Amino acid sequence: MKCVRCKQKAKILLKRHNAAFCNECFLYYYRNQVTKNIRKYKMFDKKDKILAVISGGKDSMALWDVLVKEGYNVVAMYINLGIGEYSNRSQKVVESFASKNNLPLIVKDIKKEFGLDIYKLSKTLKRSPCSICGSIKRYLFNKVAYDGGFSAVATGHNLDDEAATLLGNVLSWEEGYLARQAPVLPQTHPKLIKKVKPLYSLTERENLYYVLLNKIEFLHEECPHSVGARSILFKEVLNKLEEESPGTKQRFLNGFLEKGRRHFQDVSEKLELRECKTCGQVTTTEECSFCRFVKICNHQQET
Ligand code: SF4
Ligand code: ZN
Repeated sequence: MKCVRCKQKAKILLKRHNAAFCNECFLYYYRNQVTKNIRKYKMFDKKDKILAVISGGKDSMALWDVLVKEGYNVVAMYINLGIGEYSNRSQKVVESFASKNNLPLIVKDIKKEFGLDIYKLSKTLKRSPCSICGSIKRYLFNKVAYDGGFSAVATGHNLDDEAATLLGNVLSWEEGYLARQAPVLPQTHPKLIKKVKPLYSLTERENLYYVLLNKIEFLHEECPHSVGARSILFKEVLNKLEEESPGTKQRFLNGFLEKGRRHFQDVSEKLELRECKTCGQVTTTEECSFCRFVKICNHQQET
């Protein structure tokens, strides 16, 4: 097996592209894919200040490294969600990468800073820890980006994530989610910062190969709450299809982005946006869920 670019011995085969690469040419391919995605969707340019959300896993660590190496103006943000030892270990990985490479990092600790506890909230509101956690993360990404004058919030979502999310949304015809699933969510309100996914066309396997080749430390374990998540089942189903027919995930996602998504556009435009009466961040209700969470947790502490 020879590298399609330099004809030396190849080290990785990417069946969906019908291409194999040596390590050096893989890195070229990887960085090229990321910069192509950024340009294609006009995510940001070198003048923009980007907030990269980093969890410590392979995907976000790859995102951080590649954006820095490509010369973008990136500040990383890590959120400690209070998920036991998993959160402590991931924070260490992120902090160590920042200090070794002398990179700017914002750390938010939801317990220390806001008194939030996703387990208490989950019990009180009878919602899953993931749904509470998701609301908190989305709020903080946007708030920190807005307050800090950032142009975009970048996340490490990859092709496997996006295809699995799409499958889940299609299976239950979640029109609102389908309308909002894209590599770029543009700014629809002055206080809603653009969200971008520069790795949306790269697979988990490619991100893993990228961090291994660059000797980047990352947290190997997944969040304990991801076990049994439906998204994992969707990923397994898609992996089977991909094995039989390489390129399935890419065709599914790209086909939706090019031909399907526009049919759901008017659904998202109907959402009425307003500002939270407590914090002023954008919400669809009178008070945003983050402020309600803070009140619930602080009230529980007092009683
Ligand atoms: Fe949060 Fe659930 Fe993801 Fe864990 S798996 S980080 S609880 S959304
Ligand atoms: Zn609020």
